[in-house]
Amino acid sequence: MTIELRPFGSSGSQLSLLGFGAAPLGGEYGGLDVAEGRRAVHAAIDGGINFFDVAPYYGRTLAEERLGEALLGKREQVFLSSKCARFGLERFDFSAARVATSVEESLARLRCEHLDLLIVHDVEFGLEAQIVEETLPAAFALREQGKVRHVGISGLPVRYLRRVAEQVPGLDAILSYAHYTLLSDLLDQHLTPWCAQQGIALINASPLALGLLTQAGPQDWHRAPAEVLAIGPQVADLCKQHGRDVAEVALRFAFDHPTVCSTLTGMSTVEQVHANLRVLDQRSDPELLAKIQDLVAPVYNQMWQEGRAENTDPPGPKDGHSSVKIR
Ligand code: NAD
Repeated sequence: MTIELRPFGSSGSQLSLLGFGAAPLGGEYGGLDVAEGRRAVHAAIDGGINFFDVAPYYGRTLAEERLGEALLGKREQVFLSSKCARFGLERFDFSAARVATSVEESLARLRCEHLDLLIVHDVEFGLEAQIVEETLPAAFALREQGKVRHVGISGLPVRYLRRVAEQVPGLDAILSYAHYTLLSDLLDQHLTPWCAQQGIALINASPLALGLLTQAGPQDWHRAPAEVLAIGPQVADLCKQHGRDVAEVALRFAFDHPTVCSTLTGMSTVEQVHANLRVLDQRSDPELLAKIQDLVAPVYNQMWQEGRAENTDPPGPKDGHSSVKIR
């Protein structure tokens, strides 16, 4: 199996369709066997995954430490993304000074000289003017110095991501999460065509809706409304009746998106890496997707809110309960 590579904007770099999210290496998804996590990183590289995403926030620096150790001697084989500005559940610092020191600290933990992508983490928690006028210019300065090769933003509210990006020429990437899954197509409604027009690389993270679309279900910190949380096990059961695992169905659905640069899922075991690589060779079952579409219709595009009130997307009807796209 050869993994599909897709262009990262117009940079000339290409990212694997399946990207390795390192949040679980920080223990964000429960029990972690650190040695197994390292083996998972190696299995991913051996399987052709070249895109790795991490953050100081994941495991409060532990994920970066562990990924850095696992990548020793392998750094040149991967496109490495890390973040700045988020350091704890409620701990943010979007100042220019902290952007610079944060990147130095990340480089030390990751044991390397540069990041391929620096993402300003969860911009909805910042003041819009500061993100636009201070944080992103500081990140661009690091790009000029060569400390980071590209600059992006991440966050939950897709409209706000776009609003910020519209004000900041020169942005390379947007990482959106949980907005292109079996439960939502808000990515396509607000970001996909626009990013393509602008030449901005769009990364679709959390295709399993942060663990909701797995047999084991989400962690107790998951913030989706109760009715959305309740639909997860029902989708899992439906997939099981069709002889399919829900995580594989959800991942395949995300892989079928025609233009996102990479689909980023969290992994921490070799078994998960191999299972997710196998999905690249599978096909979606249109009959099953149609049944999922009916099942999830009442909660489709119902998200939760993160960040400052003025930055959050309005919930609801405007987004419509549009149907799961069967591509
Ligand atoms: P996800 O939707 O990828 O779900 C991860 C969960 O699914 C983990 O519990 C993982 O163990 C499990 N899983 C993975 N493959 C599986 C399989 N085959 N079978 C069963 N379970 C499986 O959510 P995520 O990890 O939060 O998102 C992916 C990555 O995207 C993160 O690790 C992070 O790098 C990035 N991300 C960034 C932001 C941000 O910048 N604000 C937000 C969310 C995610």
